[in-house]
Amino acid sequence: MQAQAVTQRRTPGGAGRPRPEGPGPELGRAIAYLAHYKKDAFFAYLFLFISTGAMLMVPQLTQSIIDAVTNGYIAQQVAKIPATFLPTALQKLGWTAEQFDRYQNSAVQLMITAGLLILLFAVIRGLFAYAQTYMSERVSQSVAFDFRNDLFAKIQRLSFSYHDKNQTGQLMVRATDDVEKVRLFIGQGLLQATQAVVLLTSTLIILFFTNVKLTLVIMPLLPVVLAIFMVFSTSVRPLFTEVQVRLSRLNTILQENLAGIKVIKAFVREPEQQGRFDVAADDLKNQQIKVARIFSFLFPVIFMLVSLGQAAIFYFGGRQIIQGTLTLGEWQKFTMYLMYIFFPLGQLGFIISQMSQASASAKRVFEILDARSDVVDLPNAENLPEIQGTVEFRGVTFRYVGEGEPALKDVGFSVEPGQTVALLGATGSGKSTIINLIPRFYDATAGAVLIDGHDVREVCLDSLRSQIGIVLQDTTLFSGTIRDNIAFGRPNAGLEEIIAVAKGASAHDFITSFPQGYDTPVGERGTSLSGGQKQRLAIARALLMDPRILILDDSTSSVDTVTEYEIQQTLTNLMKGRTSFVIAQRISTVRNADLILVLEKGQIVASGKHDDLLENSPIYAEIYNSQLVEDAQAVTETAETIAWDGKEKQS
Ligand code: ADP
Ligand code: MG
Repeated sequence: MQAQAVTQRRTPGGAGRPRPEGPGPELGRAIAYLAHYKKDAFFAYLFLFISTGAMLMVPQLTQSIIDAVTNGYIAQQVAKIPATFLPTALQKLGWTAEQFDRYQNSAVQLMITAGLLILLFAVIRGLFAYAQTYMSERVSQSVAFDFRNDLFAKIQRLSFSYHDKNQTGQLMVRATDDVEKVRLFIGQGLLQATQAVVLLTSTLIILFFTNVKLTLVIMPLLPVVLAIFMVFSTSVRPLFTEVQVRLSRLNTILQENLAGIKVIKAFVREPEQQGRFDVAADDLKNQQIKVARIFSFLFPVIFMLVSLGQAAIFYFGGRQIIQGTLTLGEWQKFTMYLMYIFFPLGQLGFIISQMSQASASAKRVFEILDARSDVVDLPNAENLPEIQGTVEFRGVTFRYVGEGEPALKDVGFSVEPGQTVALLGATGSGKSTIINLIPRFYDATAGAVLIDGHDVREVCLDSLRSQIGIVLQDTTLFSGTIRDNIAFGRPNAGLEEIIAVAKGASAHDFITSFPQGYDTPVGERGTSLSGGQKQRLAIARALLMDPRILILDDSTSSVDTVTEYEIQQTLTNLMKGRTSFVIAQRISTVRNADLILVLEKGQIVASGKHDDLLENSPIYAEIYNSQLVEDAQAVTETAETIAWDGKEKQS
């Protein structure tokens, strides 16, 4: 199908703006995407557990070193006292004779062993942290890949009415930035959260087993820290949602600006555009700063609480050492494990904010993925068989948006295969709307559109649209070669076929005049083609599909007379033997049409053939005399003179 954007977006406005709410189920759905990568995800988590375990060993070993040192020191001192007092001293210390012996002679060795073990665990931790990072990155990139593809596929399938309501900039931010936020959460946030929870609980268990009293000292701090993070995260989430909304707005402006740069320059609107952009950029900046302000408030508060915990350990731990219920090594271990409590708490805080962002983003992504396309295949839809080309409108009424004036009111007509229908009427009378209903870009609000007797709503969209060719005035070329663009609807078409249709569309000559011929790159950054050349490529594109029904926006007003003449000839060629709908601009089109439909405010006010209408319909006579363009044939002489100046005109 050769459909390009038929209608302009008439409802700008920020449709689909997410409302800030509590963390929704969207994040869970995003996480479910991991299911496709179970093995990779499993290893990522396994490696995470191993490296966390290695991390947990370090304070334990540090305790061994310090205890070896202090015990060694004490043993050396005890060894100095007279031998008669030794048993009493050992009894007071609670040491056996072997222990005393070991502390005295093997302290250095114990220390070295523990030191080497610390080194070993550091290496294990490093290796597995590396493996885990690699695996999680792999998983998250794969998930993001799936997300992007699903999103893109969905955007392709969404109906015109969806695209009418949603801005391109919005969609672009969702497909890029929002997906990235979700990816970061799935790839890092989720693992870090797991690590934080594992680290936190195992540390607490170890601490309780080491010294209950000391552990109880720091316990009251934990809920305080957690509460701060919770308050923080709930207040920051709507702020992040707003950041995304403002980013979308900025993107929309940028996107519109780039697409319309010629118009902007022609109308000298650069300063206003600059102003619009500045306002949007400023909005975004302010929002980011607002978020940063909360963040910068958070961390000092947390650090203060950490210091409070440390002070408590120093004080209460110190007292226990003096009383002899705690060793120096255990004390040191405690301080180290304390970091293992506050570190994951801080990490959790960070993740909660990341989760807020990811959740807001996931919501926006799923908003698209869940958007119901108005135009979809029925569950039992069958393929439309190869058609003859009968088209019937039966009492069709159509509204673009919910209420308001219908764009079409009770439109009825019927065309035989191969006939040409000319649509006439003022701007906004409903000509394009009629055309939009045939390939089912929209569904009729009431009544039915039938092709060969099949209601278009009851057949598969692909089978319907692939049998309808559309040539619009404003041709979209995609980046790629001329050949790719002609073969757009049938990528595996052979070169001979492509040349044949290019000849039929009078495009062969100008194509071969390029040094690279059919392999000339066009579209973004490619060779720029004139309006007439583009249109001839669009005609070739439609010819290649050999459709039974053809839709033409026959406006060639942007093209010089020579090109117009050529295009007109090829269009006549193209229409032969096909049911054609033409938005007529020229006298010759209406003269030759089998059916002329005169539209006014969405209603057919007159219909029939030219001679008949000219006599009986004053409205038609009026349009015919004042609005239709004289045929290009009439200026053939001029055309030939111009053609003599240079065969190809490139505007
Ligand atoms: P024509 O092609 O004859 O100029 P259209 O069929 O484009 O007229 O438009 C018919 C009416 O429908 C007009 O009032 C127009 O504003 C409205 N309309 C067209 N396209 C849309 C759209 N995508 N969303 C909302 N209204 C639309
Ligand atoms: Mg129109």
